[in-house]
Amino acid sequence: MIKKILNFHHARAGGQTEKMKKIASEKICPFCPKYLAKYHDAPIEKKGRYWAVTKNDYPYEGSKWHFLFIHRRHIEQASQITGPAFSELSQHLKYLIKKYKLPAGGFFMRFGDSDYTGATVIHLHAHLIVGGPRNKKTKPLEAPLGYKIQKK
Ligand SMILES: [Zn+2]
Repeated sequence: MIKKILNFHHARAGGQTEKMKKIASEKICPFCPKYLAKYHDAPIEKKGRYWAVTKNDYPYEGSKWHFLFIHRRHIEQASQITGPAFSELSQHLKYLIKKYKLPAGGFFMRFGDSDYTGATVIHLHAHLIVGGPRNKKTKPLEAPLGYKIQKK
């Protein structure tokens, strides 16, 4: 079961793999409320009934802001999100946009089998990512959402 909680293929730099190995050895889920404080370094910005909002300890390369909305109860599928939880999620999104005066951003959620999505932790969470404005020196900021099927 623990093998499905974390996906080592999707670990990024900066000590993430080492932390994941420790988590795997303890056979726990790092995004479950009981363990979040132990394994997540960034403070919780806002806690609702359904979601905890925090910054990603391992922000995607080139992002200025990278927030996570972690569903507080362990679920793995989008179909498990209730109407009230979706409603609260929108409130958290608006809160961050206002608090950080975000001019734009990318908001996404992956769910289910992480071999399809590129996620490192299968416990359901959403992302809000903001990079910088396009100019001659910038490139598109990349966030994995899945795998392309190779054409023959
Ligand atoms: Zn969990």
